[in-house]
Amino acid sequence: MSALDDVAGWLRGARRVVYLCGAGLSVPSGIRAYRSGPDAVWGEYVLEWGTRAKFMEDPAAWWKTFWLGAHGELLKTGIHPNAGHTALVALTKRSAGDLIITQNIDGLQRAAGQPEAQLIEIHGRHDRFICASDGDCEGIEEAVTSVDLSKLDAGVFPVCARCGLPMRPLVLLFDEYYDGHTQYQAHRARRALDDADLIVFVGTSFSVGITSSAIRSADVSGARVVNVNPERAPFPRVTELNEGAEVVLPKLVALLQG
Ligand SMILES: [Zn+2]
Repeated sequence: MSALDDVAGWLRGARRVVYLCGAGLSVPSGIRAYRSGPDAVWGEYVLEWGTRAKFMEDPAAWWKTFWLGAHGELLKTGIHPNAGHTALVALTKRSAGDLIITQNIDGLQRAAGQPEAQLIEIHGRHDRFICASDGDCEGIEEAVTSVDLSKLDAGVFPVCARCGLPMRPLVLLFDEYYDGHTQYQAHRARRALDDADLIVFVGTSFSVGITSSAIRSADVSGARVVNVNPERAPFPRVTELNEGAEVVLPKLVALLQG
């Protein structure tokens, strides 16, 4: 029996599977993973600029030099889900209780046809704007296409129609908490991780909080843990499938259908 066969067997028998996805899943779709690999230097820049504090300092500069520079590629056409996203849709069709928690803000899992009831975008989504008010302004929220970013050069940035504060992307910044917006569904994510009997990490670099929560949950519950990624996980008691998600996950789908 290979590790792949083992994992297929566990998926067959699992009561509840949670897939916790990171940047590696979207790399084959052309989206840069900034925490590892050749783009690590770019990562420093993202960590420095990707904060609420930086945004509030100078929203126009933040939008223009940081957000559109770092994530503008997401607004272009021609970025599509890959075989990893599609395989996850197939895998989670097996049970309504299975859940995907993605750290990716690219929307590609949704674009692959993932039912929203089985998807938590724990770091938010790049294609929605919200008012930057700290909660006093009741969540004006707009699609990114309805907001004008064409006057950033003149220092004009989008503002909330209700309170006049700047509009920001609906994404978790590095100086913010998972519980900062209901959209992130952090409470539901933690509950699902506690309740899972199988946790599958997919393309994650284990550098952010939700992966630590998942590891803690598995330690307490005794859930099986699988790592789908070319790089090994930095903790013990994990079954490694060390290839890209776009390779491994379709193989699992085939095994389960066979
Ligand atoms: Zn507002």
